[in-house]
Amino acid sequence: MTKTLYVDLDNTLVDFVSGIERLSASDRAEFEGRYDDAPGIFALMDPMPGAVQAYRELSQLFDTYILSTAPWDNPSAWSDKLLWVKRHLGGEPDDPAYKRLILSHHKNLNRGDFIVDDRTARGVDEFEGEHIHFGTEGWATWSEVLDHLRPLATKG
Ligand SMILES: [Mg+2]
Repeated sequence: MTKTLYVDLDNTLVDFVSGIERLSASDRAEFEGRYDDAPGIFALMDPMPGAVQAYRELSQLFDTYILSTAPWDNPSAWSDKLLWVKRHLGGEPDDPAYKRLILSHHKNLNRGDFIVDDRTARGVDEFEGEHIHFGTEGWATWSEVLDHLRPLATKG
C-alpha cells in the first residue's frame, strides 16, 4: 500500500526569510516581529534549496500532500500559499501538488506515515506517523531527507 507523506511549507519547502527581504521598506518596518501578518508576503518567497525537485520525486514515491498552516490574522496568506504552490509546482491535473494543499492548525488530525516539518507546533508533536524534523541534525537539507525516505517508499 502506498504510504502517505505530508510536507510543510514555511521553512521546509519555502524559504520564509526570502519573503521578508522582498517586502517594501515600509511594510518591513510596520510588520517587524510579526512578518506572518504582512499582506502578500507568502507569495514572495523562494523555495528552499532542492525543495521543488525533492517534492517532485517524493510525489512519485508516496501519496504526498502539502500540509501547512496559514496565519489566522492574515487572510491573504491563505490565497498566497495556493498561488505559491501553483507557481512552483504547477496547477494542472498532472502536476504533483494539484489539489493536494491542506491548510490546517491541527496537523495531528491528518492520517499518515510521515511528516516533514521544521516545527513541532500545530499538532505535529501529536502526529501518528514519523516526524522528520526538517532543519535539525540529520535532516538539515532536502538531500538528507530524500536519503532517508527513498528506502521507505512502497510505490514507484
Ligand atoms: Mg514550517
